[in-house]
Amino acid sequence: MSKLISVVIPAYNEEENIIVIIDRLESIFKTLHYDFEIILVDDGSKDRTLSIIKTAAAARSNIFYIEFSRNFGHQPALKAGLDQATGDAVISLDADLQHPPEMIAEMLQKWEEGYEVVYTRRQEDKNLSLKKRKTSSMFYKLLSSLSDIEIEAGTADFRLLDKKVIDVFRDFHENDPFIRGLVKWLGFKQYAIDYIPGTRYAGSSKYNLKRMMKLALHGVTSFSIKPLYSAVYLGFILSSLSILYVPYVLHAFYVGEEVDGWASMIMTIVFFGGLQLIILGIIGLYIGKMFMQGKNRPNYIIRSTNILK
Ligand code: UDP
Ligand code: MG
Repeated sequence: MSKLISVVIPAYNEEENIIVIIDRLESIFKTLHYDFEIILVDDGSKDRTLSIIKTAAAARSNIFYIEFSRNFGHQPALKAGLDQATGDAVISLDADLQHPPEMIAEMLQKWEEGYEVVYTRRQEDKNLSLKKRKTSSMFYKLLSSLSDIEIEAGTADFRLLDKKVIDVFRDFHENDPFIRGLVKWLGFKQYAIDYIPGTRYAGSSKYNLKRMMKLALHGVTSFSIKPLYSAVYLGFILSSLSILYVPYVLHAFYVGEEVDGWASMIMTIVFFGGLQLIILGIIGLYIGKMFMQGKNRPNYIIRSTNILK
């Protein structure tokens, strides 16, 4: 019997891409000696994505769908697919064909060589807008410098995970998981393949600057408490500096020197006001995370699926 490969695809408003990606996957697997299943996760799409997915699933026995009760986001959609996948290996990729399905052959080959995680690294792409490139490189720099986990530039959610890894991952009930970081954190034998991303086949990107920023902050605060330490150090350094200022102020007072530093005083107040807000914000983020985790809500809610378990 040949091994089963599960392909997990989160989709949000991807009506024009679904059929294309299914076709591409089918023609690739025709050349390989594996059984495969496709799990399409509809993340509360507002267009015809769901009905297209359902039609495809009805026509073939190896296509499954998961319908969310609303839009939960890319990471929860991916997690839902991984939770349901039954393959000996699971490959996740985006619905928009930016992750070339043709790389699957190479990923499977590495998997057969014994690697349990085969992830991909997107190379700098001239087709991407400058803004997108800048924000994504900033994203990885920020992530790596502020957290304890080294996340390489360009690693998106296009990867192969062995069943062993999936089994471990299924037990993670972390609120709002940051899968990119978690996979790195899990360890196992990992292998990276570089690729040049394609352009989106149809539709538009769901990530704007605001969402990227949110994802970056989320990545950092999910993986380390380093920012809390830097807040403490920064506070410590700044208050030591201000203590150094005290003898000067006392001296000025005794010799009756005019205090004419009004402008610098206001600047200091503003500076420290801002600093305190930043640090409070950092602390607030962590408390917010504890609050969310404390409620222990599921990461996603399935409205319907044709996966029988
Ligand atoms: N996606 C999703 N839920 C969302 C946003 C995006 O399931 O709320 C899916 C989307 O359909 C695509 C993948 O996540 O398959 C990546 O999204 P996108 O292509 O918009 O991101 P980008 O490639 O621009 O980073
Ligand atoms: Mg995309």
